Amino acid sequence: MQAKVLVVGTGGLGSPALMHLAGSGVGTIGIVEDDLVEDSNLHRQILFNEKDVGKPKLDCALKKLHQINSNIHFVPFTTKLMSHNSLEIMRNFDIVIDGSDNIETKLLINDCAVKLQIPMIYGSVYGFEGHISIFSSPKYPCYRCLYPAPTTKIPNCNENGVVGAIPGIIGTMQALECLKLIICGNNTTLSPVLGKLLIVDGYTLDIKKYTLEKKINCRICSLKQSEINIEGLSHIPEIHSITKYELDKLNDVTIIDVRDPEMWQKSHIPNSINIPLRRLLNEETILQKFKNVSDSIVIYCQYGINSKNCIVALQKKGLSNILNLSGGFQQYLN
Ligand SMILES: [Zn+2]
Repeated sequence: MQAKVLVVGTGGLGSPALMHLAGSGVGTIGIVEDDLVEDSNLHRQILFNEKDVGKPKLDCALKKLHQINSNIHFVPFTTKLMSHNSLEIMRNFDIVIDGSDNIETKLLINDCAVKLQIPMIYGSVYGFEGHISIFSSPKYPCYRCLYPAPTTKIPNCNENGVVGAIPGIIGTMQALECLKLIICGNNTTLSPVLGKLLIVDGYTLDIKKYTLEKKINCRICSLKQSEINIEGLSHIPEIHSITKYELDKLNDVTIIDVRDPEMWQKSHIPNSINIPLRRLLNEETILQKFKNVSDSIVIYCQYGINSKNCIVALQKKGLSNILNLSGGFQQYLN
């Protein structure tokens, strides 16, 4: 009852983790989430059902979790975890469970967890494979020792597809490790993934454990706590995303499809215009035209990844107020 656990994300990992934490009676549970439920989430995000589609995930999650255990104090944060708010959010919790689906957020959670000296229970899924570890304990490696910078492009569940049971297994394991940390602290016999990376193969059901090395030159581990400057580290660029439901409600909007013309000709969002990525980024006349548009500008690609990178590049060229269509055209079709 006295434990305070923060769960970042209510998705495939966060859903089962939260249900077990609530069921076990963890006294205070913080939840960071600002997305809406989409139908393509339902196979893995077991907190939600068909009636929740289009509604805020956080509201739906709180309702379900309250039904599991009404004695718990829930602390909701309707936001994305960003460099400017992460320390404030995380500093009131004993343990953080990483239910995020991108490396940038994982790095941010890691850096704050090391600075605040709270354990980060990490989870990831790639297709049929699930990963779990505990980072940020002083003697052991941190997530940056494993992935130094957000350069490795690993697709998230929406882009790559995942079998719902895999995040179900990993999220449940995260809850288990969390409960053991609450009861027994950093005891290596009881926390077998401390300093290790455990990989579950969903095809063979083999579970392998690898020892991780603490890197001497790690950008975080090589610093004292007071020297870790969260906002000075490279994390998540501020990109505003909208869902297909929000797009439908926008009135004055210019929708740009940045895919190749062949894909656009096959099928596209009604009223969108096709400007392939390379042209949009390199032709000055096009840029100038969009700088003077008063409409909201929404950019989409097939899966919402190229469009995100495109927005980062456009922001550097002085174009603000651009929105990314979350999940891209693929999500729009669902
Ligand atoms: Zn490190």
